[in-house]
Amino acid sequence: MAQDNGGAGARSVPAGLSKNETLVWETLAAGDDPLKAYEILDRLKDRGVRAPMTVYRALDRLERKGHIHKIDGMNAFVLCNHEGPHLVQTFLVCETCSNVRELEMVAVEAGILDAVRKSSFEMNTARLEIKGACEACAA
Ligand SMILES: [Zn+2]
Ligand SMILES: [Zn+2]
Repeated sequence: MAQDNGGAGARSVPAGLSKNETLVWETLAAGDDPLKAYEILDRLKDRGVRAPMTVYRALDRLERKGHIHKIDGMNAFVLCNHEGPHLVQTFLVCETCSNVRELEMVAVEAGILDAVRKSSFEMNTARLEIKGACEACAA
């Protein structure tokens, strides 16, 4: 079962972010599509951020806090649609327009956690990228 949590739309900046983390978070919140690190840097130049490391560090911290996710297949980042960090992340990735939507798939999460526990493996993250065509591109 998949549940759509809608876009990141009118979200307010999470509490406890540093200045640079807030800038990166706002940049991701302003766009609908996933952004690569250099695209974020590009958009932040006018706001005084010029060092790539500043962006990389902020992305790293935001990801560890669970506010954003990395889409490995695109090497790009999106805001998390959910409250708080979660280990299993599921995305619908459109191969035509690069649109990405995060889905909450409770059954998938439970299945993965259970199987991993049975393997005595200590999991950090699981990301599932479901590739295909979004509604607009499939039409
Ligand atoms: Zn998420
Ligand atoms: Zn599409």
